[in-house]
Amino acid sequence: MEAAVDRKRCLGCESCSQICPAVFSMGEDGFALGPSRPVKPEHEDICRLADENCPMEAILITE
Ligand code: SF4
Repeated sequence: MEAAVDRKRCLGCESCSQICPAVFSMGEDGFALGPSRPVKPEHEDICRLADENCPMEAILITE
């Protein structure tokens, strides 16, 4: 599984980085970092929760 953020949609609400800091972090510009990155199996459930809670549907998950 991989996760990415569409930075054009991101509001910078920090929800994803608070729910799943192992995968998501905020850039210096205040928006979540974008590039696709692998998600460790033990982080997959919480990563999906972060995806479900993104108000802009800016998180992109590929299985
Ligand atoms: S939850 Fe969504 S809108 Fe909020 S910082 Fe993360 S990617 Fe951006």
